[in-house]
Amino acid sequence: MELQRPSRLEELDGGLVLAGGTDLVPLLRDGLVKTDTLVDVRAVVPRGVDGTKIGAGTTLSELEFDPEIPAALREACALAASPQLRSMGTIGGNLLQATRCWYWRLDFPCFLHGGSRCHAREGAHREHAIFGNERCASAHPSDPAAALLALGARLRTSRRELGIEELYRLPTEDDRDVTALEPGELILELDVPRPEASTYLKAMDRARWAFPLVGIAAARFAEGVRLALAGVAPIPLRIESEADLDKATPLPGTAYKVELARPLIRRALQAVT
Ligand SMILES: Cc1cc2nc3c(=O)[nH]c(=O)nc-3n(C[C@H](O)[C@H](O)[C@H](O)COP(=O)(O)OP(=O)(O)OC[C@H]3O[C@@H](n4cnc5c(N)ncnc54)[C@H](O)[C@@H]3O)c2cc1C
Ligand code: SF4
Repeated sequence: MELQRPSRLEELDGGLVLAGGTDLVPLLRDGLVKTDTLVDVRAVVPRGVDGTKIGAGTTLSELEFDPEIPAALREACALAASPQLRSMGTIGGNLLQATRCWYWRLDFPCFLHGGSRCHAREGAHREHAIFGNERCASAHPSDPAAALLALGARLRTSRRELGIEELYRLPTEDDRDVTALEPGELILELDVPRPEASTYLKAMDRARWAFPLVGIAAARFAEGVRLALAGVAPIPLRIESEADLDKATPLPGTAYKVELARPLIRRALQAVT
């Protein structure tokens, strides 16, 4: 495998993008992702915070400790992964991390891998989704993505600008991807509006170093409070209120997540209002 280290965006010419490598390197090691060319983009993707702009190469630990960053994003970063992973992992890579579904990670020929079945729906699915789970029941693992969704962040890529909700899509028969990024498209920068108040709360199996069973981000703006959930659908999910939980379609093993989400939503709303 060839490793390229471009110093300018214009030098990029295909290959698989590598940032901190905390998600990608294990996938390469396990043969779940294959490539002839890895492109280390750390010298070309902006890093750091400037007003409301955050470089996609900024690490989670840099965001966790920056007082300029809205609380929901700071708290989501602080509650993600471990200190070692947060000091390597970038916010851009976090938004594009692959599913943690173990059937997928063990290379079962499931729907997301291009097959016709969802093994988790029929098998072990305690950590899986309660929304949007008809074809693939995976639960999106990113805490910061839910925070950014509640904050109404926008992304600048190497090709366009888009709202964070446009970054994600449920997988379909024709396209099994959960993001709308085109091949070769780089996330360069995020623009994160400043709310009047915001928070991120997370239910997890351990108090540290665990993916969200349910994560809730709440952000209060003059127009009202925006809510978003992590760990409940194959993509981060915007909801309007707790009442939206009544539309959940849980599997037998994930029904507990609906009840877990209710008090979290109330506590998050209390914290920002
Ligand atoms: C054990 C473990 C526990 C974790 N726990 C949590 C958790 O609780 N909550 C949570 O939110 N996350 C968690 N994570 C995920 C972790 O935060 C991510 O692995 C990390 O943020 C990814 O960033 P990276 O820079 O290392 O990405 P990489 O591994 O380098 O890349 C990840 C993906 O993003 C693509 N990519 C990277 N940067 C760009 C860019 N700028 N433009 C386009 N594509 C890009 C890569 O091609 C690859 O597909 C955990 C990870 C591990 C391994
Ligand atoms: S939840 Fe998604 S990733 Fe997991 S087995 Fe089902 S289709 Fe595959």
